[in-house]
Amino acid sequence: MHAEIISVGTELLLGDTVDTNAAALGQRLAEWGIHHRHRQTVGDHQGRLVEALHLAQSRAEMVITIGGLGPTEDDLTRYAIAEVLGRPMVRDEAVVRRLQAFFRSRGVAWVELNGRQADLPEGGEWVANANGTALGFWVPTEGCGGVLALPGPPNEFLPMLDGPVRELLRGRGGVPLYRRTLRFVGVGESLLAAQFPKLMDGERPTVAPYAKPGEVHLRIADADDEAGRERVRQVEQLIRAKAGEHCYGADEETLPEVILALLRRERQTLAVAESCTGGGIGARLTEVPGASDAFVGGVISYTEAVKHAHLGVPEAVLEGPGAVSHECAVAMAQGARERLGATWGLSVTGYAGPDAPEGRLGEVWIALAGPDRAEAVRFAFRGDRRTVRLRAVSQALTSLWQALR
Ligand code: AMP
Ligand code: MG
Repeated sequence: MHAEIISVGTELLLGDTVDTNAAALGQRLAEWGIHHRHRQTVGDHQGRLVEALHLAQSRAEMVITIGGLGPTEDDLTRYAIAEVLGRPMVRDEAVVRRLQAFFRSRGVAWVELNGRQADLPEGGEWVANANGTALGFWVPTEGCGGVLALPGPPNEFLPMLDGPVRELLRGRGGVPLYRRTLRFVGVGESLLAAQFPKLMDGERPTVAPYAKPGEVHLRIADADDEAGRERVRQVEQLIRAKAGEHCYGADEETLPEVILALLRRERQTLAVAESCTGGGIGARLTEVPGASDAFVGGVISYTEAVKHAHLGVPEAVLEGPGAVSHECAVAMAQGARERLGATWGLSVTGYAGPDAPEGRLGEVWIALAGPDRAEAVRFAFRGDRRTVRLRAVSQALTSLWQALR
């Protein structure tokens, strides 16, 4: 069984609305063992919608549309589906009465346009929507295929997906997909992929790299049965044997979670001193519930005065090498560690831009101070202010993980 998704709405093409519904649907389809190879996005235009439906029908047994089921003139999905399937449109009078009663109960006047939401291609069945007036519908075609139309508002779409749609589609798919995601830091996407050229071309399982901010994820996927899981396990072992030193976790595990778990295991604590990242490291760490048993807190020392007064960075350092220097980064990390009473102090100081001394834009020093040593490393990040700050946060967490591991 192959499905194809068609997202309908000019706002999706313009980028005003991000197609979060299709993303959610893609995840569910994989879970239900319904594969999908294509997804289309089309504006609110009946001709182009009809074209998209024809194309989808030519290569998938099941077509799922998202959006365009409202009562207004630009909501055309139901009419395009009826046209492509060659089914007459039938107005369901029971639905009209229910809609009218709903409008009356809200004190809203009934206009004839609202009747459009009761139009169903012949042979179709309604799919309940507990959170809005636009019902979904399913028109079966041959086999266990068909066309499923769902409304666009995410607060209606998502509950339908995990309710009536799941009921409707469960059992129509094949073996669901089993996925394992390995998460890497400190190594680039192409460098990582180049280590496993054969695996990247494989079909069973498929292995695909995904570059994420500051990380690379490798997704290993195969059929969710005993043989498939075993193939995934073997490939995971192969990858870990070669690149395990960069692999911090798997599946939903995040880098801050892993760092906090490592600290907890050793009964150690961490404090931070952040300059150019302005609290970004602390924000990432405190996304994890219960972080306080390993992360004590930090100082956002944006000015030299605060670096001196609250972290004890010597005036001689600030006047000599300056606030963006090896010496300052080390003093900040030591200051955070000592003044906040933590096992480790992690600091970041740098030029995120746009203003920086000649040739020093993107220069960031990251230091880690521990019980018996303190070290700082210089990084040269490229990109605008936002990118440099993001990279600095990711790198600081990566450096910390590498030191703790
Ligand atoms: P519609 O069902 O086309 O009337 O869409 C109603 C609302 O849902 C609009 O505000 C859209 O921006 C939003 N919407 C439509 N399709 C999607 C989608 N695929 N993902 C997220 N939001 C959507
Ligand atoms: Mg729309």
